[in-house]
Amino acid sequence: MTTLLNGKELSEELKQKMKIEVDELKEKGLTPHLTVILVGDNPASKSYVRGKEKACAVTGISSNLIELPDDTTEEELLSIIEEQNNDDSVHGILVQLPLPDQMDEQKIIHAISPAKDVDGFHPINVGKMMTGEDTFIPCTPYGILTMLQSKDISLEGKHAVIIGRSNIVGKPIGLLLLQENATVTYTHSRTKNLQEITKQADILIVAMGRAHAINADYIKKDAVVIDVGINRKDDGKLTGDVDFESAKEKASFITPVPRGVGPMTITMLLKNTIKAAKGLNHVER
Ligand code: NDP
Repeated sequence: MTTLLNGKELSEELKQKMKIEVDELKEKGLTPHLTVILVGDNPASKSYVRGKEKACAVTGISSNLIELPDDTTEEELLSIIEEQNNDDSVHGILVQLPLPDQMDEQKIIHAISPAKDVDGFHPINVGKMMTGEDTFIPCTPYGILTMLQSKDISLEGKHAVIIGRSNIVGKPIGLLLLQENATVTYTHSRTKNLQEITKQADILIVAMGRAHAINADYIKKDAVVIDVGINRKDDGKLTGDVDFESAKEKASFITPVPRGVGPMTITMLLKNTIKAAKGLNHVER
């Protein structure tokens, strides 16, 4: 029988716990604060940013949104980031990606102080994660790991297959699972015989951005299936990379889309912001 990994429910529970922690911090005179910077008017980015602001409000974290026009220059954005880096009342800075073409995304990520990099994308934080040091873990992989741990799903010695190798999802989730003693295989668009590999997975993480690309034929019986994909259908509704209806017949645990990994991603952003406010990722530059 399949168990649903309901990210929405778990994220509500975690937010309640975080609200208590934030209230305690406020009593001590510390209000965690997140600055979100949005450049341009990409509808998906706008909707993600709204979700992040709403989640901050629920937990009592204060946040502000800096909205910039599509034709903002890289220099202008860098100078805004510098202001936020130097503002002691700001604990976390998030620049919503993707950025317009005139900006070098890596240069922007490098400009955010590693101590305020709540997305966990700065090379210093990526390096710390790689070597197993305490740091900001990128929110989506962090959310996935938290979901697996919430159901006591054992990872040690398990074969985890990751489809996708992006810097924000595929690569870091593989590293985290490796640190939990899973045996990790990465796959991507040039992988040959994908199905043969995925059928060996005890834990299958799908982060491709291809609606319903993975069905029951790719899944070993009783595998744990995590669907990271967010794809918009013609009717405007969201759907995952996994064909949920067929996959659920084989999987022991499976995440739905929506209400799976998405809400957990936002929740982990809150967790990282609280960590930043507590100064737990202090990094000298
Ligand atoms: P990217 O586009 O950066 O990466 C997609 C990866 O999938 C690439 O590594 C690509 O391989 C691989 N891929 C594409 N097609 C195939 C194929 N046919 N077979 C095997 N591998 C393939 O996407 P992201 O990692 O940023 O995001 C992946 C999905 O997750 C998207 O739908 C995105 O919207 C969603 N997402 C959801 C989040 C959430 O909170 N739920 C957060 C972040 C992303 P190659 O490297 O060779 O090109």
